[in-house]
Amino acid sequence: MTSSYSAAAIQWMSSLLSHRFGHALRVAPSDARHLLLFSAHSDLRIRVVADPATFTSRHGNLPCAHWHGAREGWNLALPGSLPAPGVGFLPEPLITCDEAGMTIGYDILGLAFWMLTRHEELTPAETDRHGRFPASASHAFRHGYLERPIVDEWLHLLGAAMRRLWPGAPIRPPDFSMQVSHDVDWPSRYGFSSFGQFVRTMTSDLLYQRDFLQGLTAPLIWAGTHTRLRRGDPANTFEWLMDVSERHDLKSAFYFICGRTDAGMDAPYDPEHPAIRALMRRIHERGHEIGLHPSYHTYRDPETLVKEAQRLRRVCAEEGIVQHEWGGRMHILRWETPTTLHAWERARMSYDSTLGYADRPGFRCGTCHQYQAFDPLEDSALSLQIRPLIAMECTVVAPRYLGLGTGESARKKFLQLKLACQAVAGSFTLLWHNSELETAAKRRLYASLLE
Ligand SMILES: [Zn+2]
Repeated sequence: MTSSYSAAAIQWMSSLLSHRFGHALRVAPSDARHLLLFSAHSDLRIRVVADPATFTSRHGNLPCAHWHGAREGWNLALPGSLPAPGVGFLPEPLITCDEAGMTIGYDILGLAFWMLTRHEELTPAETDRHGRFPASASHAFRHGYLERPIVDEWLHLLGAAMRRLWPGAPIRPPDFSMQVSHDVDWPSRYGFSSFGQFVRTMTSDLLYQRDFLQGLTAPLIWAGTHTRLRRGDPANTFEWLMDVSERHDLKSAFYFICGRTDAGMDAPYDPEHPAIRALMRRIHERGHEIGLHPSYHTYRDPETLVKEAQRLRRVCAEEGIVQHEWGGRMHILRWETPTTLHAWERARMSYDSTLGYADRPGFRCGTCHQYQAFDPLEDSALSLQIRPLIAMECTVVAPRYLGLGTGESARKKFLQLKLACQAVAGSFTLLWHNSELETAAKRRLYASLLE
């Protein structure tokens, strides 16, 4: 049983709050049951309950109470009661004032620590066939709050408390943004494949999708992808994706596979291929971003991930591509806490955007704000930033997951998540593969989400 948060954890909490509110804030230990929160703009402090025994638990078997903020005169970011993981009940009232400042009877900072550092994934109750911790096993899903950014909602309340207590303090939460990214698993529908693979793909397109026109052009695409991707290639949607992003003042990030650790699961292309080099040059020329999509087995193999990052940087340097930040996302969303964190850190990457679930959309880390990574085993903060993934197209669309198709119910689900991100001034991070835009319905759906 942990009786207090470590100095490293408290330092991490201070910088999380300072970054979130755009204002220097200091978290300090008080007695064993509380943390204190100070601003340079006031002598009054906020005292917050601390429950480190609960929020350093390496499992998800925690109770979950609910708080009805409106009954106590607080406006919450989202309607309804606010889930409070870690406790069976909450004091009433939750927030009280005294001559020294204010006291909040729930460990908001502990919740942020537990959710953002993915403590419950340290001893996963189950994993799926790719070794991933599934949404269905998470505390958030089991307690019905996976589609709510609850850490941000609690921090929103903390911000409101600060404004009441410290009216002179310059508290500025960030603005809402949208981040679109595209894992490049299949830059071409037929190019880069062996003859056998090509025949199998073409046959399946002819038989199952009954796309005879595509069947006729397939051999041209397969044989003709030498120096550039072909125009009629159904996976070559890069120019269209950049057009859509530019219409909305967004930058698209394209993450490339730069290694092969599993012949069946990884991409058939090499980053050195002239057509991939041309594609990268074009993405860079149009002002969009290039990043890394580490291959299938690298989530537990930092050394190989580092080599793949070096390979991407080398190819980009050869093409004259200079970026001030490098990030990306694990292929198949494979992840192991904290092994994969250290792999990205060792590869000197600025951010990772893997942490969402494949089987359900929503807030795996309880937040839609980017944050500093922290290793709960070594008890230390990293330089790496975590950019949580909120939704991947197939999670919502594909029959093997939610199966909502490409119509109105899928659109509603994406927009409901986007609205939740807007309510907490976070970032709606959406993954849409370049190879998943082969129908007009998919393109319409994707474009509508950026509006
Ligand atoms: Zn992938």
